[in-house]
Amino acid sequence: MSVEKLEFQAETKRLLDLVVNSIYTNKEIFLRELISNASDALDKLRIESLTNKELANDDEEPEIFVVPDANTKTITISDNGIGMTRDEVITNIGTIAKSGTKDFLDKLREASGSTAQELIGQFGVGFYSAFIVADKVELITRKAGTDSAVKWTSDGAGEYELEDCDKDSQGTIIVLHLKKEFCGDDEYNFTDAHEVERLVKKYSDFVRYPVKMNFEVKGKDGEETSIEIRTVNSMKPIWTRNKSEITREEYDEFFKQQVHEWEAPLEVFHVKAEGTVEYTALLCIPKHAAPNLYYSDYESGLQLYSRHVFIMDKCKDFLPDYLRFVKGLVDSPDLPLNISREILQQSVEVKVIGKALEKNIQKQLGKMLKDDRDKYEEFWREFGKSLKIGVYNSMFDNKLKDSLKDLLLFPTSNDGKLSTLAEYVSRVPDFQKKIYVAAGKDATAIEQLPQMELLRERGLEVIYLTDPVDEFTIDVLHEYDEKHFQSITREDFELDDAESQKVKAEVEEIAKTHEDLLKDVKEAIGGDVKEVRLTSRLKSGAVCLVTGEGGPSLSMEKTFAAMNNPMFKATQILELNPNHAVFKKLESLHEGGKDSQDFKDLCTTLYSLALLIEGVMPNNPADLANKVTELLTK
Ligand code: ADP
Repeated sequence: MSVEKLEFQAETKRLLDLVVNSIYTNKEIFLRELISNASDALDKLRIESLTNKELANDDEEPEIFVVPDANTKTITISDNGIGMTRDEVITNIGTIAKSGTKDFLDKLREASGSTAQELIGQFGVGFYSAFIVADKVELITRKAGTDSAVKWTSDGAGEYELEDCDKDSQGTIIVLHLKKEFCGDDEYNFTDAHEVERLVKKYSDFVRYPVKMNFEVKGKDGEETSIEIRTVNSMKPIWTRNKSEITREEYDEFFKQQVHEWEAPLEVFHVKAEGTVEYTALLCIPKHAAPNLYYSDYESGLQLYSRHVFIMDKCKDFLPDYLRFVKGLVDSPDLPLNISREILQQSVEVKVIGKALEKNIQKQLGKMLKDDRDKYEEFWREFGKSLKIGVYNSMFDNKLKDSLKDLLLFPTSNDGKLSTLAEYVSRVPDFQKKIYVAAGKDATAIEQLPQMELLRERGLEVIYLTDPVDEFTIDVLHEYDEKHFQSITREDFELDDAESQKVKAEVEEIAKTHEDLLKDVKEAIGGDVKEVRLTSRLKSGAVCLVTGEGGPSLSMEKTFAAMNNPMFKATQILELNPNHAVFKKLESLHEGGKDSQDFKDLCTTLYSLALLIEGVMPNNPADLANKVTELLTK
């Protein structure tokens, strides 16, 4: 039989390199990963055999075998599940399909120590974790319903070999040739049955198929030793037990085993309901967002069980999209075992359970926000974007909007700390009738906006919108506690107090006598600016760019452009500070004639600078650079 040599996909190679030169401190987790894959393979077989009777294997009970062997220095994990065809081995084991892999690897390269650990934990390397402990891995597999088997071998160094082979029955055998330090020379001995038994109990106790091992039983005086096969895991579904009897560690371990979480979740919800529809749900909020959470290939959804029997994975119909980060399972005796995805979508029971779970999660989040602010902020940093997208998508659903608005947090000019909208409103002075917001790349960029100076001086707090989705969210919310949101970079922004109104009136007076100047500045800039006007919102700044009411802002325009929607344009209004020396200069140059080159240059330079302040690249940056250099030498 010929041996074919193949190369791992470039990204897989890089990932394997990381695993082989192990950055994992926990060397034991390979066992959990491989047993969990075996359990998934048994699930797939059971589900496929519901529709394809030929696959049903009535002679054999589904089982997983773990065989440590001190003589050969190996540990073997086998299952009689679905198995893989040759092509499936190539795609499943030779490549990583997750999008965001490249970004992830780049991030990982820059990270160090514990951050790197955390990152790789979030990503999860599944099968490749075998190379943490093995310097050679063999995988022999035969797909259910076929009679050819294939053997895959690799030392994790960039290439793998494939060859046809014989295998008596369907399923997969994985042989790990252990590195020396894992055979008892050092801290670990994965060739020792009792040590491995302890690990299976620790990491795979709730796996729903028997994990079996061989144990030597010493014969009584003179009798030969015999081998006893024992099931090591309890298989008892944790969610059927009483909440009060389950420790947090048990829950944590369950999520690691059952939903492939690599670290203890941030929060666990265990809900039992016996109303019109009976169900138990065991859900968690992970500690970290999956790297591909907002990519289209992220598979959200819960596992579904009926009377403790697994029915399907990644069932999307329970939770709305904005809760896509929630993981876990639902077990309901009111759902039939042979339910299909199509029927599930129509199911009234699923809708009832889903609504109740959504409400429950909202309630728990509200409680966390109230009782454990640090934890909520940790949650917010990872998943806040999801809730904001939830609000954005609630455009026609006021009930949803209302239930989410008090869960939102934003950084504000109050030390950049995260604040709820209620907290913000409670702090504003009586005269302030609106909620001030400003958008920018980050807090520093917003703080440097010339429009911020006056507000800072007056001690007025501004909410920072630093995530591209924020402005869209605020747009949909429209108001909070009867106060409308008001961007400080929109044309209609003004302070409501008497002092500000007075200054505004003064500026309006100046504007009346400078109508020609403003018209000529507009003409000199040309194209993109709809209006040039004087402003009272600047202190030491000379110019700023604001956007028209309604329609997208400049940063929304950028977001649209990034999504390939360049037709959504902001209406630009250039504002000049009449109390600034540059304005006086503009006036004097204007007296020399609106067609003078110096006047025109000053107008276009001011406009380019206003764009730069907003983080928008002017059309002709080289021209701007030349003009500024020239001015510097004058
Ligand atoms: P994940 O399990 O997260 O998809 P893995 O790297 O652990 O990632 O496995 C990749 C794929 O290889 C699995 O999705 C599955 O299709 C296949 N696979 C792994 N182990 C087995 C097995 N024991 N039996 C059948 N298929 C398997």
